Amino acid sequence: MQTYFGGRLDQPIAYIHPDDRKGVVAIWRHSLRTGEPFDSELRLRRSDGQFRRFHVSGRPFRGDRNYIAAWHGQSIDIEDEKLARENLLNRIMELSIVVDMVPSNLWRLTPDGTTTLVNKHMADFLGREILDESTMETVMDTIFHPDDAAPVGNELGRCLITGDSFAMRYRLLRKDGIYRWMSGRAEPMRDKDGQIVQWFGLCHDIHDQVQAEENLRRTAERLAQATQAAHLAELSASIAHEVNQPLSAIATDSDACTRWLSLEPPNVERAIIAAGRITTAAVSAGEIVRRIRALFQHISQPRTLENANLLIDEVCRVMVDEIGAHAARITTDFDMDPPSIAIDRVQVQQVLVNLIRNALQSMDRTDKNERVLHIVSWREGHEAIRIEIRDSGSGFSDITRIFEPFFTTRKNGMGMGLSICRSIIESHGGRFWVANNEGGGATVGFTLPIEAEPVNSIAG
Ligand code: ADP
Repeated sequence: MQTYFGGRLDQPIAYIHPDDRKGVVAIWRHSLRTGEPFDSELRLRRSDGQFRRFHVSGRPFRGDRNYIAAWHGQSIDIEDEKLARENLLNRIMELSIVVDMVPSNLWRLTPDGTTTLVNKHMADFLGREILDESTMETVMDTIFHPDDAAPVGNELGRCLITGDSFAMRYRLLRKDGIYRWMSGRAEPMRDKDGQIVQWFGLCHDIHDQVQAEENLRRTAERLAQATQAAHLAELSASIAHEVNQPLSAIATDSDACTRWLSLEPPNVERAIIAAGRITTAAVSAGEIVRRIRALFQHISQPRTLENANLLIDEVCRVMVDEIGAHAARITTDFDMDPPSIAIDRVQVQQVLVNLIRNALQSMDRTDKNERVLHIVSWREGHEAIRIEIRDSGSGFSDITRIFEPFFTTRKNGMGMGLSICRSIIESHGGRFWVANNEGGGATVGFTLPIEAEPVNSIAG
């Protein structure tokens, strides 16, 4: 204890903070008059001029006949204690402001699961005071989605017993009656002996995220279904397209055969040729069906070493009637030293037939003298042979779309031919492309990888 003053009442008054003087003097005077002890708090000036808070108290000392002989008093400097308490209160206030400002739901539980605190955000979210109904069971029943209450209750109950961290997704009832998805976590707080003294939990609203995930999942599901349907449509169209080619050849040649035979006298020789082409087309259809079945059984077709020039020649010979019907001419410019290519012969023939047919159709409006189909082949380095089919037709009207399944500008077209050709060439390890010629018409080209082994069996 520090003595600041002594003697008469008006002497110490000079040390009291001016704002406290009136009140303190009133208390003292009251005690002097009544003899009641006094306790008061006031600011006193220290020798360095600083005012510090003191707790001042006085008790009367009574002599004979209960007469007050003296007053004993003490003043205790409580400035440091006051400051510490104020700091603590400020910290608590700051913390509770922070807790209320956190844009998430915060809560506190006792070790047995009784809720002892929820922050403002959570109270606003729930729109109710859950501390009144704070046992775990009542909270579960009132604010959790009926489907989540039991699993959350079980898991939280387990964590309260084991001390494990709690982490779960669940739905909480918002004040507007809507259940929102939350991501909740809780951690135990332990004392120095490791005993759990309370639990702190945090949960934040992930409803929009959960819904976005759900939408994404549904979209992916729909997309997978649509893709499957598209694949199926593409596949059936592709099968139909492949089988249609020999079928239409059979129909044309049957007509021709009938015509030759119904002539007077019948032209048996031409009829036999037409019948021969029917057989070839029928065999080809059978071959296609066999390959499609093999495709589904994942059996790879045996590839044979072929001479590209001979293959083109053969296709042109087979299509000679069709070329004539379009009043077109074919010119060729072949590599003199044809490399051998390992291919599925029927497939590559189909590519050639398809491309030649497309080219013929594209020239239907070209002046008859200029309907020229030019087929070239040459080596591209040591790796590949390059084959191009150039026509003097209309050119591609929309070159960006021609590989889209079902894109066609033809009345009876299916729009699958070019995409099938491309996939056949790519399955052989080649490239496939299309271009419009500068002077009109179109060029379709592809490469096929060269085999190291020379083709001995085929004459060039
Ligand atoms: P389809 O022949 O059934 O229409 P394709 O996939 O073979 O199917 O061809 C798609 C489209 O590409 C055709 O409809 C046509 O517009 C265009 N096309 C194909 N080849 C040529 C070509 N040589 N010249 C101009 N356009 C072509």
